[in-house]
Amino acid sequence: MRARLFLRCLSLLVLCAVLAGWTGAYTDVRATETADTEDLEQQKKDTEDKIDSIKSSIDTVEDKIQDLEDSKSDLQTYITQLDGQVNSLSAQIQDLEDQIESKEEEIQVKTAELEEAEAEAADQYEMMKLRIRYTYEQGNQSFLVLLLESKSLADMMNRAEYAMQMTEYDRQMMEKLKETQAQIEAQKEDLEQEKTEQEEMLDEVEEQKSAVNSAIDAKTQEIASYQSQIQTASGEQSEYEKQLAEQEKLLEQIENQIAAAAAAAASADDGDGGASGFLWPCPASHRITSSFGPRTAPVAGASTYHKGIDIGASSGSAIVASAGGRVTTATYSSSAGNYVVVSHGNGISTVYMHASALYVSVGDVVSQGDTIAAVGSTGYSTGPHLHFGVIVNGSYVNPLNYVQ
Ligand SMILES: [Zn+2]
Repeated sequence: MRARLFLRCLSLLVLCAVLAGWTGAYTDVRATETADTEDLEQQKKDTEDKIDSIKSSIDTVEDKIQDLEDSKSDLQTYITQLDGQVNSLSAQIQDLEDQIESKEEEIQVKTAELEEAEAEAADQYEMMKLRIRYTYEQGNQSFLVLLLESKSLADMMNRAEYAMQMTEYDRQMMEKLKETQAQIEAQKEDLEQEKTEQEEMLDEVEEQKSAVNSAIDAKTQEIASYQSQIQTASGEQSEYEKQLAEQEKLLEQIENQIAAAAAAAASADDGDGGASGFLWPCPASHRITSSFGPRTAPVAGASTYHKGIDIGASSGSAIVASAGGRVTTATYSSSAGNYVVVSHGNGISTVYMHASALYVSVGDVVSQGDTIAAVGSTGYSTGPHLHFGVIVNGSYVNPLNYVQ
């Protein structure tokens, strides 16, 4: 009774929400402990479902983070390319600036040459004017002076010719200076034109560089946005992982409680049965039709070393749990038919075979004497009987050492 009270307290502490939703799926042959265990099993299943769902959320958020990281990485690669373009454009700009600078130097040289030529022309002109005036003054002072000063006609002619030659010289000199000045002017214009073209190119390249820099700024902002999304997703991931750890801890607690309930149920029935604590599994009949140990197989496929005792009984007779414990197997096999295995703790289990019906499921906690199945003839069987076996630490032992 104390153990039963303990289980009720345990169930009240551990379960809460699940109780409302639980509906008994089986017959009422089982004790309260079974219902409590069923609640625990339901809670275990709910927790496992929650864990699956959280793991799926973690997978989703991890995929999202991976996608964002990929996009970020692509952008970083693109920015590296853009940086390369900026470097190349900067080199072009530097080159053009150098060219413009050297063009300016050439223009300065040409300007100086032009100024020099202009000054020379001006000097030449002044000298020419002086000479022309002299010639005219000579002329104005009349031909007489030329005649008087001339020692001979030849001399006079020479003087006159010289004056004429000087005038021709001045005229030629003026032509030459004008030509030189025009050449320098043209060269200077060419240089100015080249400089203008280079400056236009410089503007163009600087515009390109500015455009690439704008693109880099935009992509850098996109990266920042990705980074921010990655941080948000990482936060979600941490939150899910925290939830996962909590649910896994809860699951472990529930599993411990299930084990504790099974152990409590097993010990709760100690002393209720025979001297060994085990109860005869078939109250309707004590007729042993086949003993434990070596034998001739009664039907093809049946064991020649009999791993339990056969108790002959009419079909439908109650099969009861020999001791309290937890149902670890409740299924059908071609040889054992419908059969149940109940674990009692301390390495001991009991086996009930060839049943016509099973009243328990895996995970159920049963008390000693609970009806768990009905006698039948399923599997390798020649007629209705209960095959009852006892397993201790994985080996079959003679059940008569446990039940009378
Ligand atoms: Zn048997």
